[in-house]
Amino acid sequence: MGKDYYKILGIEKGASADEVKRAFRKLAHEHHPDKAGGNEAKFKEINEAYQVLGNEQKRKQYDQFGATFDQQGGFGGGMNWDDFMKYARGGGGQDFGGFNFNFNGMDLSDIFGDLFGFGGSGRRGTKKRGGDNIQIDLTLEFKEAIFGAQKSVELYKTTRCDHCRGNLAEPGTKIATCSTCGGQGRVAKVQQTFFGAFQTAATCPNCHGEGKRPEVACSKCRGQGVMKQKETVEINIPAGVEDGMTLQVSGKGNVGLYGGRAGNLYVNLHVRADSRFERDADDIYVKAKIAFTQAILGDKIDIETLDGVVSLKIPEATQPGTQFRLREKGVPGNNGRGDMYVIVEVVIPTKLSRRQRQLLEGFNE
Ligand SMILES: [Zn+2]
Ligand SMILES: [Zn+2]
Repeated sequence: MGKDYYKILGIEKGASADEVKRAFRKLAHEHHPDKAGGNEAKFKEINEAYQVLGNEQKRKQYDQFGATFDQQGGFGGGMNWDDFMKYARGGGGQDFGGFNFNFNGMDLSDIFGDLFGFGGSGRRGTKKRGGDNIQIDLTLEFKEAIFGAQKSVELYKTTRCDHCRGNLAEPGTKIATCSTCGGQGRVAKVQQTFFGAFQTAATCPNCHGEGKRPEVACSKCRGQGVMKQKETVEINIPAGVEDGMTLQVSGKGNVGLYGGRAGNLYVNLHVRADSRFERDADDIYVKAKIAFTQAILGDKIDIETLDGVVSLKIPEATQPGTQFRLREKGVPGNNGRGDMYVIVEVVIPTKLSRRQRQLLEGFNE
């Protein structure tokens, strides 16, 4: 003989789905094994009945086949009883934040959900939070980008509390093991439910999961470990940076609450142009104007480089547009320094004296 699930739940054959659910809740509450006077065998039976009658399809089958139905295995497949009880009891210390489990094709969160706060957000973990990143723009002079520079910027940001130095305790007072959780950071939470009393684990509300707690919270930051203030940050600009690059300065963003780690500082670099120099990656281009006589006869001219003035020999018969390379006078980079290229522009005089004209006409003959 199969079991009479209707009888087990104490309902009529024509009971509505709502009545089935209500009957199950009431009985499960009465017989939950974790409750004083609870009865595991009875609880199991009630559950078995509800597995079937609480499921429209299974209930139909049961109504049709009646006695033989339980031989098809009311509890067959899915989760076994021990697992079920583990969840029903609070997962042996786990909490159910966001966990949606399935029992024999039924979503138990429907039943246990209001007990354990299924789908509740962020009940795990500590209050400790990483700080936000900060982004700033910084404009460099042309040569600062090439040779690197040390820049200081003043930021108004979340910093460590200067009173407690970020340890959350009033100076002179101790940080003690949390008395609420005994240093575990988690506490057993007893919830009164319709199944009786349940134990679940929750983040300790006293120490926010840290396991330790200042005896007296810092009076300045009220135990948050942070304050807003101006801070001067030194930024080391490496040699060879270019316009449009972003530098990351680790740990110089906003400091996190309750001792959380700091975010990063991101520095967007802008580089001022210099009318004398043109940069192409690691190479520098300059233009040098020479007189047509210097181009023809050759000469020595002064060239301003990034490192100061150097002398450049212009050989005889230098053509307009000729490029001279000054080795390693370019931008310092990973593969040594780039080069500087001097592009020669030959200047044609626009006014000639009578004497100059005569000489040039003589040259023509
Ligand atoms: Zn403080
Ligand atoms: Zn605690």
